[in-house]
Amino acid sequence: MHIDKFEDAIMNCRFCFMCRHLSAVGNVRFTEVDTPRIRAAMIYGLRTGTNSFDDEDFVEALYRQDLSACCRHHCVNHFDENGLALAVRADVVEAGKAPDAVKKLAAKFEKSVGWKADGKGDVAWFLDETTASDKSAVAAAKKLFAAAKVSPKVITGGSVGKALKVLGYIAEAKSAAEKFAAFLEAEGVKTLVVSNPAALNALKQDYPEFGVKLPCEVKSMAGFALQSKVKFTKAAGEVYALADDFIRNYQGCACMDKLLDALKAVRKPFGTNDEETYCCGEGAVVLDRLHPEIVKALAEYVAARADDPKKDRIVVGSVYTKRALVKYGKLNVITVEELAASCL
Ligand code: SF4
Repeated sequence: MHIDKFEDAIMNCRFCFMCRHLSAVGNVRFTEVDTPRIRAAMIYGLRTGTNSFDDEDFVEALYRQDLSACCRHHCVNHFDENGLALAVRADVVEAGKAPDAVKKLAAKFEKSVGWKADGKGDVAWFLDETTASDKSAVAAAKKLFAAAKVSPKVITGGSVGKALKVLGYIAEAKSAAEKFAAFLEAEGVKTLVVSNPAALNALKQDYPEFGVKLPCEVKSMAGFALQSKVKFTKAAGEVYALADDFIRNYQGCACMDKLLDALKAVRKPFGTNDEETYCCGEGAVVLDRLHPEIVKALAEYVAARADDPKKDRIVVGSVYTKRALVKYGKLNVITVEELAASCL
């Protein structure tokens, strides 16, 4: 089983309650089942015969997780409870026990695999569907490219495999990855700039895990803007910058912080600590589609921690998080790319 690779997490997390306060879904549902300890205990039950994927409540709990990877990131031993959560989903799928809503969503993503390119040159921008849904974020990225004096080939289209992987459809995710790598090769892409942290993480971490080699260098938009020495003439001023699930907890990348430094952003502390996730399930990629009621509760939890919800300028790493915090939290949120474009 996929979970066998996560022996340490199964055996240790099931007796540990140290990171329960970082379980975003547990924090809004007030339920122990939504913490790493109980999930690991339930997964251990698969071995002892006291649990099985026939238990729909168990499987539902597995697909309710926010997958922020905060617990792994802050665990003193870095036990990979997040990897375990992804692995058990893959086992659920292989056992043919995925809930109907998950099956339907995965079929939709599998069908969406395919892209087109517009423009010339070997520098491309992957304009994923989530980022493309936000006109202001798209305009900001275009301004940053113009400031870098680069006219990228724009790649649009469907899934590059991240959502499929997160849902537990590993073979389908790998197939999407192989197709996207072949597409980039055929387009002669040498540098690919990516706005969406989820897509960036797929390309940087999932593809090597699948053994899929890309023909190009992959950069975040923040990394690209910094490397291109884009000149920022205005200081960003005071902001509440929320750490991104993928950028901080998955990749351990400092690109967002470095860009905020370049923008002379004065970062104010948000909430009661800087450890938990405020990304509303960004790590779970499609939590807003499977459980909009949980995403709403997560956004309201964040809004309750804002000093001045109407005025605070909150900066996030993804359009996913922005959308949730604006829609359900009624907060004043921009992406780091939008902040950067406003400082040109
Ligand atoms: S990830 Fe670390 S802190 Fe969290 S439950 Fe597991 S062992 Fe404990």
